[in-house]
Amino acid sequence: MSTIAAISTAMGNAGIGIIRMSGDNSFSIVEKIFKPKKENFEIVANTINYGYIVDGDKIIDEVLVSFFKAPKSFTTEDMCEINSHGGTLIMNKILELCLKNGAELAEPGEFTKRAFLNGRIDLSQAEAIIDIINAKTEKEAKASIKQLNGGLSKKLAEIKNKITEIMVDIEASIDYPEYDVEEVTNDKVWKILEDINDELKNLEKTFDNGKLIKEGIKVAIIGKPNAGKSSLLNAILKEDRAIVTEYEGTTRDTIEEFIQIDGIPLKIIDTAGIRNTDNEIEKIGINKAKEITQEADLVVLIIDSSKDLDQEDKKILELIKEKNGIIVLNKMDLETKITEKDLNKISGDKPIISISALKKEGIEDIFQAISEMYKFNKIEIDESLTITNNRHKQAIRNMKYHIENAMKSIDEKMPIDVISVNIMECLNEIGKITGENASEDIIKEIFKKFCLGK
Ligand code: GDP
Repeated sequence: MSTIAAISTAMGNAGIGIIRMSGDNSFSIVEKIFKPKKENFEIVANTINYGYIVDGDKIIDEVLVSFFKAPKSFTTEDMCEINSHGGTLIMNKILELCLKNGAELAEPGEFTKRAFLNGRIDLSQAEAIIDIINAKTEKEAKASIKQLNGGLSKKLAEIKNKITEIMVDIEASIDYPEYDVEEVTNDKVWKILEDINDELKNLEKTFDNGKLIKEGIKVAIIGKPNAGKSSLLNAILKEDRAIVTEYEGTTRDTIEEFIQIDGIPLKIIDTAGIRNTDNEIEKIGINKAKEITQEADLVVLIIDSSKDLDQEDKKILELIKEKNGIIVLNKMDLETKITEKDLNKISGDKPIISISALKKEGIEDIFQAISEMYKFNKIEIDESLTITNNRHKQAIRNMKYHIENAMKSIDEKMPIDVISVNIMECLNEIGKITGENASEDIIKEIFKKFCLGK
């Protein structure tokens, strides 16, 4: 394979930057541009070497170069990493020198793609690498590291072994029909299928948490105009305990707030600019509330306690009846017209919390309620494998479908070889996750998500 090179650290001025090369010629290329300080220098695997990057006689930078020899490297090819100073100009200059001496510019994700194509990691592990890079919370990172370490791959290998065992039994009963072994085989195969199905059910149980861990709990703060939605959001964002990451929303001009409270990832849905109180169009009426409520995992309904409860409040309460919700009675610093008791009668079992968004009082109680609701602290991702990836979820659902069909075939006393069709389909789904038989398009799509130099 060709030798590829790329800048692996983020662009911008930083203490150090790393330029990475992988491929048969990476050592010979680096030898042309690296002037080691040490005399009688030789390339030794897993060493870090001090010296200069030079362009002819010109010193470009003072660097450290590490060498990794095939197959013991990230890509399983000969690799080297040049640790230079972190200036954009310097890093580009060094990269240019690598290219001038025979390397090709790596595509985004190409190093990881090579690790996959060369069999060092499977596709689910490659996907875990993207998830680690993009992780916004500790829990998300933990789930991804577990997957990178082969958590899912091992589980799938176990299932694959069981399927192979079934295939052997089926073949034996087809090859030796004279020994009426069908009954015995059916029983044994059924038990193995049941085992596999249980495993798949357990994986399926992790989907909901996986989604919340990855995407964050989608929170909508709703309520009538002037109830205090934007004041509450601002109070939450300013709270020490909330770690805030702002990132671009799906539409160009929205900014969504991603916050963590006690490690619980919350994504505040941009309820049409709740922070922008001047914009009359953005004031939320019942229709808007309906729309937002639908997408939310958790609804925080804020009610102005200094005013009497009116029809609109009641309508909104009705709207969120079936939803996970918290009711916040705001403006407790003013004379109150509504009490928690009044609300209790119509709010169902949703927690009611009194606050003053203006004085930033009671915000902690909202956090507490959310913590209790999701009990995230009790979910030990270290202990169990959590499926966060939609592609994997779909494949696991398909596997379960095929296994259940196989069990049904046995129940219906179909010939035993019929179930081999279902089982082969299940194997096929495993291959889609690990990449053994993922389509070229899917593989392309996955590696496109990587950044340059990874
Ligand atoms: P939104 O339209 O629901 O986003 O409401 P805002 O957050 O813009 O608040 C509307 C008005 O109520 C503003 O003048 C706020 O200063 C005021 N307000 C919000 N929270 C409180 C509170 O806890 N106490 C008092 N006294 N006023 C508040």
